[in-house]
Amino acid sequence: MGICPLSRRFGNRMPRPTKCRRVACMPGVNYYKPAGIPLRFLDEVCLPIEELESIRLKDLEDLDQEQCAQRMNISRSTFQRVLGSARKKITEALLTGKAIRIEGGNFEMASLRCRCENGHAWAVSFDETAKKSINSCPVCQSSVIQQLPPVEACQGHGRRGRCHGHGFDR
Ligand SMILES: [Zn+2]
Repeated sequence: MGICPLSRRFGNRMPRPTKCRRVACMPGVNYYKPAGIPLRFLDEVCLPIEELESIRLKDLEDLDQEQCAQRMNISRSTFQRVLGSARKKITEALLTGKAIRIEGGNFEMASLRCRCENGHAWAVSFDETAKKSINSCPVCQSSVIQQLPPVEACQGHGRRGRCHGHGFDR
């Protein structure tokens, strides 16, 4: 996971290693810039994936802070700090014409749930899903498998809706 070299500048004052924030939705786009200005003239802000997730939960899904914190598996005060940092960076970018790079951070993907034809259910992390396709039940080896949405399934807002956990049968 890349560490954003700019993150220190924006108030990431955390001396101790931080717990992974759980994220259920990956952005389909990872860079925004003002139109008409060449990249070399632009400053950029770096938005870690978990900061974007905090805005998604709070402002797009309209959850309250307690629910957001639970979804991301962090304390309410940590959530508040993550959200505040995200909003500040985005506002700064919009007002001062900076590009926004979305990458890195300290997070883990919410897990995907699977169930075979015989009713065995298990969870697979998105990281594992990316490495190998899920093709048989770990208990009975059946290959008839249904993928269930993750608990924190992304609702797929936006025109692209390119999110993990999108489009599975409920
Ligand atoms: Zn099975």
